[in-house]
Amino acid sequence: MPFTPYHFGPSGFIGLVFRKWLDIPVFMLANVIVDIEVLYWDKWPRHRYVHTLLIGAAAGILWGVAAYPLRRLFKKIMQFFRLPYHTTFLKMLISGVLGIWFHLLIDAFYHWDVRLFWPSRIIPLYGLISKQQVEAICLACFIPAFIVYAIIVLSSIQKNKSKSLRGA
Ligand SMILES: [Zn+2]
Repeated sequence: MPFTPYHFGPSGFIGLVFRKWLDIPVFMLANVIVDIEVLYWDKWPRHRYVHTLLIGAAAGILWGVAAYPLRRLFKKIMQFFRLPYHTTFLKMLISGVLGIWFHLLIDAFYHWDVRLFWPSRIIPLYGLISKQQVEAICLACFIPAFIVYAIIVLSSIQKNKSKSLRGA
């Protein structure tokens, strides 16, 4: 699913739930940048190297390294969304790899040419559920993602309030 919003629902939800261990911007953007490969190839198969667990992991590490200098920018973006942001280099690496893998996991149900286990040619996930079901699940993920997001923001507002009350 190249540059469709479908990946944002699941990656946002997982990123928010596991925010203690994941760098949300790195994790979510990994889900986007992996599809540069799909744009690059003008003929099918368009999911080739980066859409495999092996090379995808290498791409995720590279993305984590590239993202490290951007951490201040990410912090500003997270502040804009009123989300706390504490990251480390290791967290960024892990989030890069897991972000790409998470994208591949969804794609593997959807695209016949995603060879997760390359060099093996098996495609055990493709066709297990219909494309419409994959899309529906991805869209449905926006709801829990929004709920978790709202809870985080509301509880941080609450915390700030009680902090300022104590300070007064
Ligand atoms: Zn993809």
